[in-house]
Amino acid sequence: MNILLIGPQGSGKGTQARFLADKFGFFYFETGDFLRNLAKTNPVVKEIIECGKLVPNKEMSSYVQSYFDKKGVYDQIIFDGFPRTVEQYDFFKKWLKGKEVNIDLVIVLEINEETSIKRLEARRLDPKTGMIYNLITDMPPKGVSLKSLIQREDDKPDAIKERLKLYRKRTLPLIKKLEKDTKVVKINGEEHIEKIREEIERIVNNEKSND
Ligand code: AMP
Repeated sequence: MNILLIGPQGSGKGTQARFLADKFGFFYFETGDFLRNLAKTNPVVKEIIECGKLVPNKEMSSYVQSYFDKKGVYDQIIFDGFPRTVEQYDFFKKWLKGKEVNIDLVIVLEINEETSIKRLEARRLDPKTGMIYNLITDMPPKGVSLKSLIQREDDKPDAIKERLKLYRKRTLPLIKKLEKDTKVVKINGEEHIEKIREEIERIVNNEKSND
């Protein structure tokens, strides 16, 4: 079973995906992290990410394809951040079919734009460890100085606006298409983290028992 997590920036996808990966033993594919790594050696990708635009569909699809081909893993994956456009999905669906697997479940975490902006503006990165904290919901532990934390370029206001615009324009039509193809469950991402976690766990358990 493969799961796709979709939601605007700051919806808590990463937190929930890590929980699912731990709980059910899925492989977690975090597209943003994957691209930030790639950006270390690819200045074009670096520039695109920093201004909050999308890596072109063709390149994006081929990066993901070669990553999974190298790993030889096609099932029991949680996809977070890819596919995020109709074009990426069309490519990916065909490719997965060739591997005799599917996206079996789509979980959409819904939050409003105000919440998204508030959460992203409070996000901080520890450049030494790569840990992400949030000045509202997830403060760093004692011993980590607030002064040492930085704000990612793409968490600054202009980039956030661009990312949310792209979510509306490119990802909302994808959700509509997925609803015709596979099981899509929408969850209120404004709820408490634990409540969302329990709901997602119940949905996945349910899906597994229907497998
Ligand atoms: P994220 O942390 O998921 O918001 O991703 C960080 C940045 O990586 C995005 O703002 C885009 O620039 C890029 N990115 C992530 N996923 C994709 C995708 N599926 N297609 C194109 N660009 C992407």
